Amino acid sequence: MRLRNITGSREAVVKDRYVITEPEKLKGIWHSRFNNNNPIHLEIGAGKGQFIMELAHRNPNVNYIGIEKYSSVLLRALEKRGESELDNLYFIRFDAEYLNTIFAEDEIDRIYLNFSDPWPKDRHVKRRLTSRNFLSKYEKCLKKDGELIFKTDNRSLFDFSLGELEAAKWTIKDISYDLHNSQYVADNIMTEYEERFVSENKPIHMMRIHR
Ligand code: SAM
Repeated sequence: MRLRNITGSREAVVKDRYVITEPEKLKGIWHSRFNNNNPIHLEIGAGKGQFIMELAHRNPNVNYIGIEKYSSVLLRALEKRGESELDNLYFIRFDAEYLNTIFAEDEIDRIYLNFSDPWPKDRHVKRRLTSRNFLSKYEKCLKKDGELIFKTDNRSLFDFSLGELEAAKWTIKDISYDLHNSQYVADNIMTEYEERFVSENKPIHMMRIHR
């Protein structure tokens, strides 16, 4: 999602009390930020934040961190975030390429990837958030029994991701090629992109995987 650049968004994001501006300093001690030892779940590419905000409302005993690369997108999430009384949700404006500089080994319990950019050109394979490049980063910070949940409407990206997880020796826990007509839909929370694709009757693919 590349929203038109919003003038002043970078400055506005940095000032927001729910944005962690120096995440490297919390590497290995994220629990101190939340003042509890609850599990930590990340969404990478959180976009406008609808999904992670709803999760945080439903699960007060889980700590959530939304990671988003672009200030202008994150600003939209923060506008919604500001209206709610959540103490279990923070955001970081950050490129997940550098994930291991901000999270220590075994620090994270779950990672969500929702409608990640497909990067269709071969030369951009390493930018796909489900490439083996990224899986190895996730492997470093996820707990041994941690998991990753990925949703997309993009069948080629989904098939590519299946190949990558096999190469990286991850295991599938659950999979659906049509989430909204499956048993898994009961617990599903829709993202902004998902709402659009579902309204266009596109099937949503979902996998839950672990190391
Ligand atoms: N998850 C949201 C949804 O489903 O509505 C947004 C999906 S949008 C297609 C993908 C988002 O991932 C964009 O907001 C983009 O800026 C963000 N993104 C892409 N690559 C990223 C990276 N390396 N690190 C952090 N965010 C990233």
